Amino acid sequence: MKRILILIILTYSSLLSQSLFEDLKKAVELGKPELYSQIFVDNKKEIETEWFEENIIKRGFKKVEVAEPYFSSNEGVKKGILQILLKSEIENELQIWEIQMEGEKISEKKIVKRVPELYEVQIPSKRIERAKEVSLLARDIDVVFKNAIVFWDNLPINRNTAVIIYGDGILHFYPSSREERHQVSINFGSSEILTPIKWLYVRFSPLNLQKYFKIVEPIKINPPQEIYDKASEIFSQFSSLSFSIELPAFKKILFTLPSPQEILIESIEGKLGEFTYNFSTLLEENITFMDRKREKILCLYSPDEEKIRIKFSSTSLWNLLHEDIYLDFNPGDEFLNIKAKLLLESKEDDIDSLFLRLNNSFEIKSITEKNSPVLFMRDNQGLLSIFLAKRYKKGEMLELSLDYSGKIYGEIELVDIQTEKKPSPRKIGRERKLQDRFSMLKGNRKEPFYLYSYTSLWHPLRTEWDFFTANITIKVPNGFTAISNGNLVRKEGNTFFWEERVPVKYLSVVIGRFYSYTDFESKIPIKFFVTMESGYPDIDFKRVKIILKFFSSLYGEYPYEKLYVIKRKWNTLGGHSPASFIILNTLIKGLIPKSSPGDLSSDVREYFLVHEIAHQWWGNIVTGRSYRDVCIPEGISQFSTFLYIKDFYGDRVFYDIIKRIITWINKKSTTGSISLGTRVGHFSDDSDAFLAVIYDKSALALYLLQRILGREVLIDSLREVLDKYSYSDISIGELRKVIERKSGTDLGKFFSGWFYNYTLPEVEIYWKNENLNGKNYLILKVVQKGETEFVFPLPIQWKDNQIMRNEELLVSKKEEVFKFSLEGKASSLKVNKPKIVPGKFRVFKER
Ligand SMILES: [Zn+2]
Repeated sequence: MKRILILIILTYSSLLSQSLFEDLKKAVELGKPELYSQIFVDNKKEIETEWFEENIIKRGFKKVEVAEPYFSSNEGVKKGILQILLKSEIENELQIWEIQMEGEKISEKKIVKRVPELYEVQIPSKRIERAKEVSLLARDIDVVFKNAIVFWDNLPINRNTAVIIYGDGILHFYPSSREERHQVSINFGSSEILTPIKWLYVRFSPLNLQKYFKIVEPIKINPPQEIYDKASEIFSQFSSLSFSIELPAFKKILFTLPSPQEILIESIEGKLGEFTYNFSTLLEENITFMDRKREKILCLYSPDEEKIRIKFSSTSLWNLLHEDIYLDFNPGDEFLNIKAKLLLESKEDDIDSLFLRLNNSFEIKSITEKNSPVLFMRDNQGLLSIFLAKRYKKGEMLELSLDYSGKIYGEIELVDIQTEKKPSPRKIGRERKLQDRFSMLKGNRKEPFYLYSYTSLWHPLRTEWDFFTANITIKVPNGFTAISNGNLVRKEGNTFFWEERVPVKYLSVVIGRFYSYTDFESKIPIKFFVTMESGYPDIDFKRVKIILKFFSSLYGEYPYEKLYVIKRKWNTLGGHSPASFIILNTLIKGLIPKSSPGDLSSDVREYFLVHEIAHQWWGNIVTGRSYRDVCIPEGISQFSTFLYIKDFYGDRVFYDIIKRIITWINKKSTTGSISLGTRVGHFSDDSDAFLAVIYDKSALALYLLQRILGREVLIDSLREVLDKYSYSDISIGELRKVIERKSGTDLGKFFSGWFYNYTLPEVEIYWKNENLNGKNYLILKVVQKGETEFVFPLPIQWKDNQIMRNEELLVSKKEEVFKFSLEGKASSLKVNKPKIVPGKFRVFKER
């Protein structure tokens, strides 16, 4: 949503004669093509004269600024990149020229990039009005001000794009989606946001401004100085954050106009908080509603809810095939020097740009396409826009090299399951004690441990999932070991050469000093690494092999060339599972693990190991498509862990664990549906909610499905997913389709209830003994009281003439009657036993 773009051109040498610039400037100012053509070699003069008339004079450009050019000399040919900013009365256009020189003249000119319609927007302008009432309307939101002062921008009336409003305003946000209303409700106590506000900053396309912005009885005024000052302060604070482009070469921020499909509203000094509303049909989910103070998204959805469930068919322009990474790491200052070479394949014709993500704290020294430097822009979120010199045809390869370095600030340590949550104000006393203890221990820690993985954005990735092979070369100081994806092909001195031949979705490195233990008997190399301060290591090769064998029997052979398990001391339990290795946390002495929905290790010692090994298939071979599909890696890994527990620990332990998990699900289910993905618990910092819903509830839902369809059908379906979607991503909807095909069963209602809904079954069961024609029957009436109609298996147990009977109902309607014939009379009827279904169950005996 934030649109600040910074255009960077690397300046090397500028030897271009100043007279060339002067001539260009004069030619534009005076509107003289003859003068302009002077800067070109003779045979280009005619065509450039024409160009000038068409593109400068006719379009009304009266001024030009030329930025410091970039020049390079290759085999005697001098090539350069020139940025020029053309200005008419109201509009600016940025052009990037690639030029070739012949002596002092330009012999070739190619316009590589044109960014038209850039504006110099300013608020306050001369147009300031007082109005009796001001209102604006957008999808699912409206704002009304009484007695308002309106600060307009300086653009001509039919081009106005920004306003700042001051007065007594009321902001009303009423999401049209049920789940989003629920999100508002659990965080703000009411399903709509209705709050008084003082200030509003709005960006519209000029057309929308005329359409949706109403101003009643405006009169020109001179506002009080303090209001005027505040308006200009608000403008400088918010204006550059969206629909703007920063041009460091010209020391300028210019504004783009929102398209008619985009609206941005920033509320300021509101009673309930300060919010950003963004509407854009250019995004997969049209509406974003964000709490700016907390920097958190409250709502993200499309008003047409069904759209979300169908895959947004954004065609991918590139396919990343391979990365060569060279990393020189110094643990002393944690400085990373990286050279990355990317091989990408164009998936469409005529492609001349590329988006990459890279951590913002790096300084980029150069980006080159083959051997010539390219232009790029960076935004404040780590998005890198690259403008290529060449246009690529479908199937053509691009080789891109990046040279960058820096320190990644903050403790960006990615863990999968994090069992400790951030301290809540109430618990802060206890937490602080633990924290002190931890920092004391941390201070005493002699062993550095560095992990750079997915969230650190330490190497370039595209904005969509790619699966690529890689060579990772890591240079570290004496005594350090560097571990990465794939095979260690060789080690020269302190340089480690890793090669990943199986496609992966991101790369990870671990650097530290370890004791290592090798299992020489296994098929693939299995190794344990233990940080040196850990003391006597707890190594269990046999267990790892049992787990690998178990999952191979379910999902097919282990997909990578090695499996390393790296144990570190940490302040939280948990693990992380990049392709071909696993990082496992063991708690620092003195810390006590907290009860958490993501931790089953009190019953199953190797729980984290099992869950993380499952990720080698689920998450690494097939992953979830968007943030809404995070249950694909997490839920299926957790479900796989359930199967392991049931097979190796038996029913008693298994059902005990399910019972405990159900307690968490019952407690946390209302925080959001599984399909809310990473947003579950996000707004309120409730990581227990995230674990309970995304890990446990989705795993349990799959387990219920297994009880309905049979283990074989479900495992077959998952195997098919691994086969058909290997090295790519899948959505919840597509998973459903695969299982539907395998089972021949419509699962629409099952998925609606369990995956796309945050409520749980509320069930009443009425039972009685009945004698019909001399035969005894147990009659059960099952009534679902809640709004949603769920599908679930329901185990029941009763005594028939003192003999225990177990049956399983398949509940699928609001109200159903089940009938069982009896020997004698039914008594001691128990429902949901063993407990496998979350929700509320009440049993009534009828007479
Ligand atoms: Zn996980």
